[in-house]
Amino acid sequence: MNKAIEYPTVFEFDSGKPGKEILLLGAIHGYETCGTEAIEAFMSKLNNGEILLNEGRVTCVPVCNPEAYKQGKEFIDRNLNRMMRRRDPEDINFYEDELANFLCPYMERADVLLDIHSYTTKGGPFVFLGATDGAEFDYANALDVKHMVYGFADAYQNADPRPDLAKNDPDAALKRDPSYSTGTTEYSRKFGALALTLEGGQHSDPRAIQVATDAIEKACAHFGIIQPDTPDNAEKLYLKVLKPVWKEGRGQLSQEFENFAKITQGQLLAQYEDGRQIISEVDGYLVMPRASAEPGMEWFYYAVPQDLTTPK
Ligand SMILES: [Zn+2]
Repeated sequence: MNKAIEYPTVFEFDSGKPGKEILLLGAIHGYETCGTEAIEAFMSKLNNGEILLNEGRVTCVPVCNPEAYKQGKEFIDRNLNRMMRRRDPEDINFYEDELANFLCPYMERADVLLDIHSYTTKGGPFVFLGATDGAEFDYANALDVKHMVYGFADAYQNADPRPDLAKNDPDAALKRDPSYSTGTTEYSRKFGALALTLEGGQHSDPRAIQVATDAIEKACAHFGIIQPDTPDNAEKLYLKVLKPVWKEGRGQLSQEFENFAKITQGQLLAQYEDGRQIISEVDGYLVMPRASAEPGMEWFYYAVPQDLTTPK
């Protein structure tokens, strides 16, 4: 590999007192910059004394993929949020392999991870839940974000057979790697961290920066790293993803759906050029509809609301 590659810059803030270490990651995908701006805003509050550390440590990596960030791209060679693991030098094939080796030690030592992204479809913030109870669920609730989604692994088990259009899938070869689905949260959890991914909102939405800034402060307060400020008050909507719906040919969604659009059973959701239609199978919500999905890829996910606050 080229020795002159650019590595992320890491900023560490230590209270000098025992406590949790939180790791804040931005721009794992280079063009998703709300996390970068939020982490930088948080760091300047720490630097100018507007926010004081109570206990523990904060480790900040505002730009995890510096080359892609500079070029305004998701990644250079491959998706950094997949196949997250350490590699021996002879197994390093891509720029993102170098970045993974650089980032893994920070994820291994952190007690808490907050990885901040943004997304293409119009819509507000949400959190990917890894668990529906316990300490990580409490952490997710503390971020004060309304929409939380979970169940993707099971959803793929429930999926209809995928149309044989894998040539359209840029990741087809990489998906044979057994660690393909290991991203930042999955990797950190292997080392005992409470780990969450926050999607701040649509890429260009300035509100996403504020959402991410608030979430960073809420996360730090939840773990006692900074003083709590305002109480959590967002109503919560927990959405269990049922299954992905594959785009099986050329066609269009029936309207410009936002993320978490409410849908009713029997509603027309999409229309293929050959006349076939996709009619909603559920009363629920559309998660991550992608108007521009390629045939063979996920077009959207069905999700239904779940009450997770009542003890089972
Ligand atoms: Zn992302």
